[in-house]
Amino acid sequence: MSHEDGGRPPEGGTAGRGWRFETKAIHAGVAPKFETNATLPPVVQSASFQYETSKELADVFDSRKFGHLYTRISNPTVAAFEQRMAALEGGLGAVATSSGMAAIFSVVASLARAGDEILSSTSLFGGTLLLFNEVFANLGIRTRYFDPVKPDQLASALESSGDPPRLVFLETIGNPKMDVPDVRAMAELATDAGVPLVVDGTLTTPYLFDAKSAGASLVVHSSTKYITGNGSTVGGVVVDLGTFDWRQHRGKLVADLARKTGDGAFLYAARRHVVQNVGCCLSPFNAFLHLLGLETLALRMERHCSNAARLAGFLAESPAVERVNYPGLPDHPQHDVAAKQFGGRFGGMLTFRLASREAAFRFIDRLGLAKNLANLGDAKTLVIHPASTIFHDCSVEEMEAAGVTPEVVRVSVGIEHPDDVVADFENALEGIE
Ligand SMILES: *Cc1c(COP(=O)(O)O)cnc(C)c1O
Repeated sequence: MSHEDGGRPPEGGTAGRGWRFETKAIHAGVAPKFETNATLPPVVQSASFQYETSKELADVFDSRKFGHLYTRISNPTVAAFEQRMAALEGGLGAVATSSGMAAIFSVVASLARAGDEILSSTSLFGGTLLLFNEVFANLGIRTRYFDPVKPDQLASALESSGDPPRLVFLETIGNPKMDVPDVRAMAELATDAGVPLVVDGTLTTPYLFDAKSAGASLVVHSSTKYITGNGSTVGGVVVDLGTFDWRQHRGKLVADLARKTGDGAFLYAARRHVVQNVGCCLSPFNAFLHLLGLETLALRMERHCSNAARLAGFLAESPAVERVNYPGLPDHPQHDVAAKQFGGRFGGMLTFRLASREAAFRFIDRLGLAKNLANLGDAKTLVIHPASTIFHDCSVEEMEAAGVTPEVVRVSVGIEHPDDVVADFENALEGIE
């Protein structure tokens, strides 16, 4: 896929007919009409929206008439962000949430209920693993796991389920395992079995990965990360890619809705049954910051990718480093899949192994430019020791399945000058011997 030549077919409506990715990232989505003629969507910082007559308000509540009611359900600034995300993914629509975790929660809570089973990749972000193994397990929703780079495992998990699982979940690049599933192959297996494929596209963003043409059903993002791009905001979003016929879904809620309301059934369930009732809505100000971030997503992703490739090359040559795990290196087990799937770019994240946990700690403590913190997708280069931080609540088995061992350092490569990033790592590595 290439975005230079337009990349994907033009969408209609407010999505910006015929616009290319970079243009949609700046202009798509309806800005709330405001008397100021502001160029940016105004932050409509209001909990509620008033109507002239009782009849009007009743009509809006009953969905006989479109309008915003209360920001826990919808808000004009949040809607502008949702519409821009839907345009960038080429999807039907989107629901924004208070965080990436809330987006994943909303998807599972819309599609599964107590007694149901879901299938998930083993290679997951730590928070997602805990959400599945603790929160949903306690609510009676069981998760069975498969290795996302072994389609056979997914095929046999789908075959061995009596009652079909309600969804299949995987990350486009496993965080922090850095493994890359062949999403098209996984989407075919899932949807041939009548099960929607949900992908977490946080590490790739719609700029690197076109989830819709790979056949995924829903894509979730932690918009905290690259979408914002500067570490200022926590948020999330789910986009319905319009590829799954929800009338065929085996979960009761969305299938019943689809028979009544048609294609918008999943989005309605996520917004009106989950986000509205749980209260995990995105704030208008955070939506505004996400919209600002999207304007420069394409440029930033190019630089994240080229800087990461440069740092990976440097680390691979360094005698203190045991192994570098970056999909852009030819020795990465899914290098070819990644090259094809992400249009010749490989993302801004990498991990590498040092001699020991102590060496990893010493290395991190000696960095000057790179920051030691729990986030990714920031303009600034960030590092973290996953085993003692993001995964500290997980079991050894859960960690190993996610590729986390005590010697591993995770890096989110920023958009600084690459020479400065490499110099910082070079200097820190010299001190750990
Ligand atoms: C950060 C992250 C999440 C969770 O998102 P929050 O916005 O922190 O709630 C989910 N998936 C992946 C891959 C992430 O990196």
